[in-house]
Amino acid sequence: MIIDSLRERIAEDRREGLAPFLVVGTAGGVDIGAIDPLGEIEDLCAAEKLWFHVDGAFGAMLAFSPTQRPRIAGIERADSIACDFHKWLHAPYDAGFLLVRDGEAHRRTFASERGYLTRSDVGLAAGETWPCDLGPDLSRGFRALKTWFTLRVFGVDRLGASIDRTCRLARRLEALIQRSAHFETRAPVGLNIVCFSVKSADPDADNRRIVDRLHLSGKAAPSITLLDGIAVIRCAIVNHRTTEADIDAFARDLEEARLANSSAQQS
Ligand SMILES: *Cc1c(COP(=O)(O)O)cnc(C)c1O
Repeated sequence: MIIDSLRERIAEDRREGLAPFLVVGTAGGVDIGAIDPLGEIEDLCAAEKLWFHVDGAFGAMLAFSPTQRPRIAGIERADSIACDFHKWLHAPYDAGFLLVRDGEAHRRTFASERGYLTRSDVGLAAGETWPCDLGPDLSRGFRALKTWFTLRVFGVDRLGASIDRTCRLARRLEALIQRSAHFETRAPVGLNIVCFSVKSADPDADNRRIVDRLHLSGKAAPSITLLDGIAVIRCAIVNHRTTEADIDAFARDLEEARLANSSAQQS
C-alpha cells in the first residue's frame, strides 16, 4: 500500500461526500507474501479517525518469531486482526479468527435481540457474552480447542522457530532458482513464498504445464499465481517437516519436469 495514494483517496472520498471508515492493511499477502507499511497506515488511520484492520491470515503469526516479528511492526496497534491458525501453525482446517481490540464495539456489532436468544439473570440463559454475540454464526464448532492445544503442546517458541525455518528454506529455494540456467525468480522472497518462472518464449503456458506435470507426478505441489498478468510458479513452504533435502529434491524434480515439457513441446 502506498501511503500517499491512501491519503489522497481518503481526501477524494470525503470531497465526494462519501464516508470512508476502514483501511485494511496486509501482513503477508497471498501471492508473494508482501507486507504493507503497517505502522505508517496506523498513523494515518489514527489521524483520520479510521478503523485499521490487518489481514494477517498467515502473516500475523510472524509475531511468534522474535527474528521475524519486527517485519510486521505496527500490527499491535490495529483495531482488528484476522488470522488463521490452519496455515503456518498447522492446526486442522477451519481455525480462522478475528481479534478485535474494542470488545464492546465487537459485541454491539453482532449481538442480536432475537426472541429465541432471550437472556436471563440466572441459570442456563445467563452469562454476559455468548459465542453468538461475537460473530454472525449461531451454531459454530469449537475452533478454539484445537488452537489452544496447538499453543499448549508446541508452545509459541517452537511454532515461531518453525516459521523461521520455512523462511530459511524459501531462501534456499530462491538461491537454487537463481543459480539455475533455466529458471528465474519473479518476486522478492521476503517470507516463505518463492515465485519464479521458467525462461522460455512463452513462460505463461510453460509454467502452467510444468506445474501440471509436478502435480501429476505426485512429487510436489507448487501452485500458480499471476504476476503482471503472467502465470508464475509459486511455492509456499509451510510444513514443519519440510527439510533442506526436500527443497533440493524439489529443484531436481522441477528440472525434470522442465525437460519433459520442452521435449513434449518439440515433438
Ligand atoms: C488464506 C488467506 C486468506 C483467506 O483466509 P481463509 O481463512 O482461508 O478464508 C485471506 N488473506 C490472506 C493473506 C490469506 O493468506
